[in-house]
Amino acid sequence: MRLVFLGAPGVGKGTQADRVTAQFGWPKVSTGDLLREAVRKQTELGIEAKKSMDAGKLVPDTVVIGMVREKLAEPGCQNGFVLDGFPRTVPQAEELQRLLHARGLNIDRVINFRVSREDVIRRLSGRRSCPQCQSVFHLDFAPPKVSGQCDRCGTALVQRSDDKPETIEARLKVYDEQTAPLIAYYQTKGLLSDLDGSGEMAAVYGRLSAVLLGLGAQ
Ligand code: AMP
Repeated sequence: MRLVFLGAPGVGKGTQADRVTAQFGWPKVSTGDLLREAVRKQTELGIEAKKSMDAGKLVPDTVVIGMVREKLAEPGCQNGFVLDGFPRTVPQAEELQRLLHARGLNIDRVINFRVSREDVIRRLSGRRSCPQCQSVFHLDFAPPKVSGQCDRCGTALVQRSDDKPETIEARLKVYDEQTAPLIAYYQTKGLLSDLDGSGEMAAVYGRLSAVLLGLGAQ
């Protein structure tokens, strides 16, 4: 199944995408993770992208589209994928459609995660991430077993530079202005399913997997 996870930063798209991958096997394709990896490796693209990311702004469409095109061509993505954080603009959505259509494919469903603004801010400001393996924790809702240390690889956890309060505000503004229009865009195409993303991670996953099973996922 080819899925797009849509929603403001901090609604839990990445966490839920990991669970979908674990249950159904479709890989998560996160443009945020791919960009952070490029920043960590200090590639030319990473050095350039870091400026936009630190300011809470979007990286240019051409850059992310190129990354997604390469990723979706990989053998692991041939039976489906979960796009997390892409598309984030209407031009990105149009390009995604073009590149899938060229291969006779389509997006099966767009899941729109809905969470109150207050909860989004609480989730983002308590988030701690592993710079090594990209695992994500939360100081209150999903603390690591050993304080400050990644459960999976033991690396010291960090607060993403774009999870600082000033940047959170900028990212939410960018979401409202550039990404939220995708809700109407996919609604018109009859592809959108709204999902209540509030509450415990397990409860959200229960609602999400019910939607996916209802669509025939196995
Ligand atoms: P995320 O981890 O999805 O919150 O992404 C972190 C940052 O990476 C965003 O604030 C943007 O600067 C950049 N980014 C991720 N995905 C995209 C995208 N589809 N288009 C443009 N910029 C992106």
